[in-house]
Parts: sequence; C-alpha cells; structure tokens
Amino acid sequence: MKILEDRILKDGQVLGHDVLKVDNFLNHQVDPMLMQQMGEEFHRLFKDEKITKILTVESSGIAPAVFAGLAFKVPVVFARKHKSVTLKDELYTSVVYSYTKKVSNHISISKKFLNSDDRVLIIDDFLANGQAVQGLVDIIKQADADLAGIGIVIEKTFQKGRELIDKEGIHVESLARIKAFEDGKVIFMDEANT
Ligand code: 5GP
Repeated sequence: MKILEDRILKDGQVLGHDVLKVDNFLNHQVDPMLMQQMGEEFHRLFKDEKITKILTVESSGIAPAVFAGLAFKVPVVFARKHKSVTLKDELYTSVVYSYTKKVSNHISISKKFLNSDDRVLIIDDFLANGQAVQGLVDIIKQADADLAGIGIVIEKTFQKGRELIDKEGIHVESLARIKAFEDGKVIFMDEANT
C-alpha cells in the first residue's frame, strides 16, 4: 500500500538491525485518517470471506483492527495480556512469547465474544516471528471458530512469521512488506514479489 510505505519512509525509525519504530502514526500517536484507509484496504482484500468478527491483541493491534471492523461493519475483539484469575473458566487462553521483550505473556479473551458460528479475520500491527498471530490462531481453534485470514499492517519478511503461517495454508495479506533494513533504511519487497 503506497501511502503506508511512504509514511514508513517518512516517519519510521530503524532501531538496531530488526526493529522499526512507528510510534508517530501507529504504535503511540495514531493517525486515524491513515488507519481508515488501511481498514478499507483490508476490507477490499478480504471482502468475499464472509467475516463476522475481527480479532487482535492489545494494544498496538487495536487501532487498525477497529478501522477494519468499521469497514466490515462487524465487532472487534482484542485479546488481553493480563490473565484474570477469577474468571479462568470463562476464558480462552494462549501463551505468546515475545522475542523482542524476551518474555511470555498469557493472552485471553472471554468465551462470550467468540464462538463456533464466527468467521474470523485476525488483524495485527506487525508480523515478525509470528508468535502473536499463532496465539490468536490457537484461541480461534479453541473456540471452534473459522479462521478466514490474517491482515497485517507491516510484515518483516526476513523474520520467520510468514513462513510459519504459510505452512498452515492460511490466507495472509500485508499492507507493507519489508525485505530488509540496510544502513538504517527500509527496503520494501518489489511489487512483483509481494
Ligand atoms: P511476533 O514476533 O509475534 O510476530 O510480533 C509480536 C509483536 O511484537 C507484534 O505484534 C508487534 O506489536 C511487536 N513487534 C514485532 N516487531 C516489531 C517492530 O519491528 N516494531 C514494532 N514497533 N513492533 C514490533
């Protein structure tokens, strides 16, 4: 998505050799006009999938997920990272390891917000090693719901997340695909390869 790539080039900051900071429009300050365009793009890409629910994980997935929900006119559910001790039986829970933070988080959602009638689109801000998305896929399986696809805002193709998801034959669409970071600059995949 050209407008997103341009914004990444303008405002993104490469940290170290594998992290992109985009807190100017996605991860801290949020640009709602850009989010709305991304929501519409996700809708264009998945409109034939009969989506009934959008699923994401707090907190950075919420902004793009809500705008996708607006475009599809379906509810958005975000998995929470704090385990509720009292309501365990009422929750679907999975464990997500973060390579960036080197910690495991429990993510959970209330059983009342996902069931076997749902066809779910997962939305997340980044696809890196694929752990967050795999946790959400696990929750969808527990709920016996259908996974319709995965929509990612920024994919880092040089990390192993895409390979893991492709192995499971899941329909994935990323709005920006980064091939590499070279000397602090972002290099995107060629259109022909995306
Ligand atoms: P995963 O490795 O599970 O695919 O990514 C987990 C989460 O880490 C993503 O949802 C995202 O919130 C965060 N993340 C991974 N890579 C980056 C990055 O390069 N920049 C930022 N801002 N967040 C990232």
